[in-house]
Parts: sequence; structure tokens; C-alpha cells
Amino acid sequence: NGLPSRRFDTPMPVMSFEFVPPGTRMMAQRLWRCIRYLAPLSPRFVSVTYGAGGTTRTGTVSTVLRLKRETDLVPAAHLTCTGATRRDVDDLARRYWAAGVRHIVALRGDPPTGSADDPPQSGGYAYASDLVAGLRRIADFEISVAAYPETHPAALSPQADLDNLKRKLDAGATRAITQYFFDAETYLRFFDRCLAAGITAPIIPGIMPVSDYGQIARFSALCGVTVPDWLTHLFEGTVENPELRRIIASIVAVEQIRTLQAYGINEFHISTLNRSDLTYAIAHILGARPTEQHAADNRLQCSETAEIT
Ligand code: FAD
Repeated sequence: NGLPSRRFDTPMPVMSFEFVPPGTRMMAQRLWRCIRYLAPLSPRFVSVTYGAGGTTRTGTVSTVLRLKRETDLVPAAHLTCTGATRRDVDDLARRYWAAGVRHIVALRGDPPTGSADDPPQSGGYAYASDLVAGLRRIADFEISVAAYPETHPAALSPQADLDNLKRKLDAGATRAITQYFFDAETYLRFFDRCLAAGITAPIIPGIMPVSDYGQIARFSALCGVTVPDWLTHLFEGTVENPELRRIIASIVAVEQIRTLQAYGINEFHISTLNRSDLTYAIAHILGARPTEQHAADNRLQCSETAEIT
């Protein structure tokens, strides 16, 4: 009929999921429901964020250690150095290593106020590149670092920020995970600049499904992420309609990932914000399916729940 044939052969992307440590018992229940729901999709690793200035330290540590103890997922612990002494940071890294946690997402972090300005010095590691070098001295961690397709707000220039990324990788990081972005071209242009700067480590796109447009717009303004007009337009008139918002959010994320896949990018880090349904739908559309064993376990769990209720 002259139409190009539909592509069913796009490879399933490699995915990792990011969780937020819970602040309350109820939030913990939601997080673990989310983890159990997404685990069967076999993410490459799952990371747990660390609150501004280390404010969720206990929640992050206990979630990472529980992931290691009770699941077969590979946990990655976000670890920030701002406002902490070198000894505190090193002790925590040693504790993770002793517990079998091998992957750290090494970050400078921000002060608790959320300001992107340089944080006050605490005599600890000043920048993420110093933290990476410190972690390397402690153990043979797999280390991920942050990258900024639209440049970190406090960077002197885009070139200085790129030099900083290179410094972090040269110090021993294995890969970078990007700040989220909405236009695929933003990532592709940045990726080209990385290649031109001689960076060969994987630069994994960070994907932020837009579950709450207002919240994302405010947060994006703080961290220097552009919210394009087309995105604002898509969410107009959806305030009263969460179901419509979820459908739009999944379509936007899938389209973004499919566009990047067309350029050969095949690994993605998805912020779940502990919402399992949206992430599951995105992963499902992209081809992820539970493994047979996991599907059987789920059936068993469902029948046990049915017996109880
Ligand atoms: P750095 O790489 O140290 O860079 C910070 C700034 O300093 C940049 O502007 C850089 O250009 C500049 N700089 C670096 N070295 C030098 C130098 N020697 N001289 C002068 N300037 C320099 N925050 C949290 O609190 N918890 C989290 O769990 C968390 N997870 C994140 C995950 C991802 C994927 C991303 C992208 C960000 C995350 N953040 C998190 C936010 C992050 O902590 C902030 O963006 C922070 O402001 C910078 O952290 P960084 O590791 O990129 O810092």
C-alpha cells in the first residue's frame, strides 16, 4: 500500500528506576508496593535519592539496605557530600560496601533550602568530582554521576560544566545520568558536545514522567530545566482530570524515549516518584514484560490475597 511498515523490531530499552525515600509509614507502604510492582520488569538497577543536605539520610540508607536484603534488585544509593564531613560520607560508603551495595550515585547535593548556589563548605568533599575520587579510594564501587544537558544553574559556563562532567568521569565514575529534559534535541545536542569533548562513558537520559504538571513546572524553574510550550499546552485543562493527565504523561515519556531510540540511545533512567502505575505503563509500552518466575510469584500473591479478603 506504499506506507512504510510499522516497526515492531525496536529493541526493548534497558531501564533503571529511581525511588524517593519515604517520610512516613504510609509513604513507606506506597514505596514498597511500587517496588514490588516494578521489580518483575527486571530494571538494570534501582536508585534511591538522598534528600537535600542529607535530610532523608535514614530513609535512604534503610531503603537501600532493605532492597539489598529482601529483593534481587541491584540497589544504587544516591550519596551527597554537601554539608557533611568527609568522615561521615566515608563511613556511610564503607557501610554500604560491607552490606553488599556496589553502586553509588555520587552527587554534590544542594543545601536544604533548595538553592542551587554553592553550598557552604563543611570541610568535606567540596564537589562531586572530589566525592568520586574519595569513593574510589574506599572500594571498587560502580559510580554514576549527574550531567546537565541544559547546564547546571551554578556553572560558570556550559563549557565549564562539561569540563566538570569530564573531571567526574576521569576521577573514576562509570556513567552519567542526566538531569531530566523534555525536548529530545536538548539531550542529543548535549550528547554531541560530550562526544566532541572526548567523553565516551554512557550518558543515560533521565526521564521524568509528568505526573503533576504544576509541581514539575515549579521544580524545573529551580533547577534550570526548560518546560516547552508544547508540554504546557498538552496539560491545559487537565487539573480536574488525573486519569487524563496520566495518559498524557505516559504518551509524552514514551514518545521522548522512542525519539531517542531512533538515534541509537537505548538506556534510560526513569524517575518513578514512587508511582508504580505510570512507570509500569511506560515500561510495558516499550516492551518490558514480567519474567515467567515473577509472573508466577504475582499470581501466587494474588491468590493468597484473595483467600485473606
Ligand atoms: P558537581 O558536579 O560538583 O557540580 C556542582 C556545580 O559546581 C556545577 O555548576 C559545576 O559546574 C560546578 N563545579 C564543579 N566543580 C567545580 C570546581 N572545581 N570549581 C568551580 N565550580 C565547580 N540532589 C540531592 O540532594 N539528592 C539526590 O539524590 C540527587 N539526585 C540527583 C540525580 C540526578 C540524576 C541529578 C541530575 C541530580 C541529582 N541531585 C540530587 C541534584 C544535585 O545534587 C544538584 O544539581 C547539585 O546542585 C549539583 O550536584 P552535582 O553532583 O552535579 O555537583
